[in-house]
Amino acid sequence: MQRAHRFDVIVIGAGGAGLMAARYAAQHANVTVAVISKLYPTRSHTGAAQGGVGAALGNVTEDYPEWHAFDTIKGGDYLTDQDVAETFAVDVVEAVYELEHMGLPFNRTPEGKIAQRKFGGHTREFGKSAVERACYAADRTGHMILQTLYQQSIKDDVIFFDEFQVLDVIMVDGECRGVVAYELATGALHTFHAKATIIAAGGNGRMFRVTSNAFALTGDLMSIVYRRGIPIEDPEFYQFHPTGLFKLGVLLTEGARGEGAILRNGEGERFMERYAPSIKDLAPRDMVSRAMYLEIRDGRGAGPNKEYIHLDLTHIDAHVIETRLPDITEFSRIYLGVDPVKELVPIQPTAHYAMGGIPTTIDTNVISSGDNTVVPGLYAAGEVACASLHGANRLGTNSLGDLIVFGRRAGMRAARYAAEATFGALPADNQDFARELLDALQRGPREERIAEIRRDLQDSMQDNASVFRTETLLRKQLVILAELRQRLTRAGVEDQGLQYNTELMEAVELGFLLDNAEQLVHGALNRTESRGAHSREDYQERDDVTWLKHTLVYKQADGVRIDYKPVTMGKYEPKPRVY
Ligand SMILES: Cc1cc2nc3c(=O)[nH]c(=O)nc-3n(C[C@H](O)[C@H](O)[C@H](O)COP(=O)(O)OP(=O)(O)OC[C@H]3O[C@@H](n4cnc5c(N)ncnc54)[C@H](O)[C@@H]3O)c2cc1C
Repeated sequence: MQRAHRFDVIVIGAGGAGLMAARYAAQHANVTVAVISKLYPTRSHTGAAQGGVGAALGNVTEDYPEWHAFDTIKGGDYLTDQDVAETFAVDVVEAVYELEHMGLPFNRTPEGKIAQRKFGGHTREFGKSAVERACYAADRTGHMILQTLYQQSIKDDVIFFDEFQVLDVIMVDGECRGVVAYELATGALHTFHAKATIIAAGGNGRMFRVTSNAFALTGDLMSIVYRRGIPIEDPEFYQFHPTGLFKLGVLLTEGARGEGAILRNGEGERFMERYAPSIKDLAPRDMVSRAMYLEIRDGRGAGPNKEYIHLDLTHIDAHVIETRLPDITEFSRIYLGVDPVKELVPIQPTAHYAMGGIPTTIDTNVISSGDNTVVPGLYAAGEVACASLHGANRLGTNSLGDLIVFGRRAGMRAARYAAEATFGALPADNQDFARELLDALQRGPREERIAEIRRDLQDSMQDNASVFRTETLLRKQLVILAELRQRLTRAGVEDQGLQYNTELMEAVELGFLLDNAEQLVHGALNRTESRGAHSREDYQERDDVTWLKHTLVYKQADGVRIDYKPVTMGKYEPKPRVY
């Protein structure tokens, strides 16, 4: 196979954001589009999304984009850029209808409209009560989105490079000219020369021990661009989803609570009534996860060691459970041997979603500084990106919405840019960085094992930088991260083969994860307030005077540099978050 490729637009990632981007780019006349994905496209994590995609269709109860935008801003603890939320809430309505027209098999209301259910933090009339806003296909919404978009992309003649792992972006004079990728089947490096590159490479939950995220979610591109001088925005805001299966982290969708499930502590009490009197179990995830921790800490956990919480679905009609929540019912039965129809399910918060990521404008252009300096030829969308839609805490169902709204935007913008641009020259040594990265790991002394370093990373991040944080724990974690980095230099891979050398790729991914962890911990240590998912026990209040601003973490030779970007405000003044 030829190892030098040229496309007008390349898309990194074949999840919901990447496929949406590819489709839209491909619809532009005379623009060639390729998708590069380390996974076979339909294995992307979007396919694991369960509960739904939020859009104010008003099919079940009255609803408006304005209410959706407000909920997103309040849910994000006012760190959300308000123009982004307002545009999103309008665009997502159209995008959901578009998915319907592409053939997505949504559940239906009796009159045949797209069915909708409740989800955390989604309310009517600016917080009065929960609203049915999540459009869903049982608890397999992401699976249906991914399959639908993949079929459409094939129809649109998008070219796919499956099982190609991007290791570097080619930056020349501050402009992106493509990427270097490793072909898993052969071990060969390929150069992809492009006018426009769209990053849609998903999240980084694998830096924690208990996570809902798939094995491949190692934050590769958040590290790759960071190594090339692009900052990461708001990495300290990492979401823990309240309902992961105990110890395993496998997700049970918030849609369960949308269908009426409730959380109970070890005393059988519906404790969320104390923390969020109006919407109770449907409060935003950051609040629910914290409440669960506090219950456990105060000795009110469930189980022999009082270390988990119960999700109670037993009062819900068995038919509703089996038909609207079939997958999670299976997960509980298979992984814990617990039947949710009859029994309480042991759960704990699970690392779930990166609110931060590669900073972009509302039009998905990647930016390199707090004054919105655009990096020509580089776009980002989906979980890897931070358009500042989710602020300090994402609402459930807003990620799938983000993928389709901003994936589409990225595809259109990148194609329009590429149609006008010319191919810039490529440096002759464009593969050197990637080759040296691989060589170092293959020649490494093997005194340390990759799997052990990764496990120590995940354990320490879980213990020191998860739901609650303090200066002492975060400083301790920085020391641990430095040690883990040292250990990685003493590691090495045993497999010297060229075909499907997954050990080598896991070693590379560990390096990426370490960068992601470093970004998160520095951001968290620097932000001396509590806001959304970032909860400092030593600074428990939200501080709008000092901290109503986005973090930008830059890599430097001797560590990191932190800068800021203003939050775009609008008509909603920050208020205390009461639900
Ligand atoms: C279990 C679970 C349930 C969820 N449920 C919901 C829900 O109901 N509603 C909701 O709104 N959100 C939900 N989310 C969140 C949402 O699903 C994700 O945030 C979203 O799907 C991410 O999509 P994406 O397109 O950005 O990335 P992904 O779907 O994760 O795809 C990433 C792509 O990037 C590729 N890639 C990564 N690194 C590289 C590399 N180095 N080289 C080449 N390719 C690379 C991968 O191959 C993959 O194709 C859920 C998440 C999980 C984990």
